[in-house]
Amino acid sequence: KITLEELKSSFRDVIDFPKEGIVFKDITTALKRPEIFRHLVDELYEKYKDLGITKVVGIESRGFILGAALAYRLGAGFVLVRKEGKLPADTHKKSYALEYGSDTIEVHKDAIDKGETVLVHDDLLATGGTAAATLDLIKVFEPKKVYASFIIELAFLKGKDALGESEELDIFSLVSF
Ligand code: 5GP
Repeated sequence: KITLEELKSSFRDVIDFPKEGIVFKDITTALKRPEIFRHLVDELYEKYKDLGITKVVGIESRGFILGAALAYRLGAGFVLVRKEGKLPADTHKKSYALEYGSDTIEVHKDAIDKGETVLVHDDLLATGGTAAATLDLIKVFEPKKVYASFIIELAFLKGKDALGESEELDIFSLVSF
């Protein structure tokens, strides 16, 4: 059994990445350890197993890793949300502001059916900009219910507030820093 302290210390802080002044939480040190990788998937599976989730939406690119493992365990389908220009067929698009400039994400128009129960997954919740744009993108499909899950939440950045937890949206992270 992995304790919360073990889990927390399995991530590596990388100073000044991707630019000066940022302390980047590196999850690769956790993922490379079989017992931690399994623990992460198992913990998320336990939380979501009885909720009728039919699609897991992974956010490019670290959201694909556990997102896909989780979809497999839940018996759900897996959907890719990608940066602009990567998906080959017709897409819905959503632009969102970054600290400098903006970014656009896309999802295939036929990725989700109306009334599905959707779990959005990414590795880390920081300001919430990426996840908020993804949730907006998913809304066009008129899902029955949407859950949002993260391995890590940087609580001091108040990403949960940006996402707006509500009756329609359930937000969860395994670890908070
Ligand atoms: P946000 O949009 O919430 O500000 O940033 C979250 C997005 O940026 C996620 O897709 C996440 O992968 C990435 N990200 C931002 N900061 C970090 C970090 O410290 N560690 C990792 N692993 N990803 C980060």
